[in-house]
Amino acid sequence: MRYLILSDLHSGLEALESCLALARGKYDAVVCLGDIVGYGPDPAPVIDRIRQLKPAVIRGNHDKACCGITDADDFNDWARIATYWTRASLSDDRLAFLRDLPQGPARVGEFDIVHGSADDEDQYIMNSGQADPLLKEQDRWIVFFGHTHLQGGFSLDSKGASRCIPMIGAAPLTRNDGSPDGSALTLQLVKGSRYLVNPGSVGQPRDGDWRSAFAIFDDGARRVKFYRTAYDLAATQEKMTKAGLPPPLIRRLEHGR
Ligand code: ZN
Repeated sequence: MRYLILSDLHSGLEALESCLALARGKYDAVVCLGDIVGYGPDPAPVIDRIRQLKPAVIRGNHDKACCGITDADDFNDWARIATYWTRASLSDDRLAFLRDLPQGPARVGEFDIVHGSADDEDQYIMNSGQADPLLKEQDRWIVFFGHTHLQGGFSLDSKGASRCIPMIGAAPLTRNDGSPDGSALTLQLVKGSRYLVNPGSVGQPRDGDWRSAFAIFDDGARRVKFYRTAYDLAATQEKMTKAGLPPPLIRRLEHGR
């Protein structure tokens, strides 16, 4: 099976459509790691598009806040303004969809999906120090996570050596810049190793690359392909301006921060 792994869409319709266009024909099922809404200008169309795809899905912290399961007290001012704007712009039916999203972890095929981590859906896994204990605990050989908006992840081999993915310019990733797929990095997964993999963020990447991110996991071939794709950033930013969303949230998109 080939799984299209999407995370942190954040109401970015142009970004989502660009990912789906690039992924077309390359996957059999869709997986969504949460944060469908929050920050961006198109919560309703993005919810509707995701529902059409019938993904295996879990909720993210912004989904929880936007539908009122949690208040947005732990968010910064800009995120809180966007949360209230999102809540006010969604119909009861779409708010109910967000409210009914299951909490991770969830099992999909032979892997697990989480928003933050298996221990805490709001945890940020930013470095090997945080990833290693989770890798040692996990009972699946591969777990997909989101929340950090950083494409890549962590691995632990059978000898207990941990690594950060991607390791720039080093194995096991190969760069296929010239491929018609656009920008893709391939991670060949090694039997006996454990992996925590982040597909990156569709709607608000924070790794310095503004382009939309996603991944495709082929469990039979034991391979993850990481993709980046340009989208109509100006259109998204214009909608945000019209909606009166905070300028820092609009500007950060072009910096990938
Ligand atoms: Zn997020």
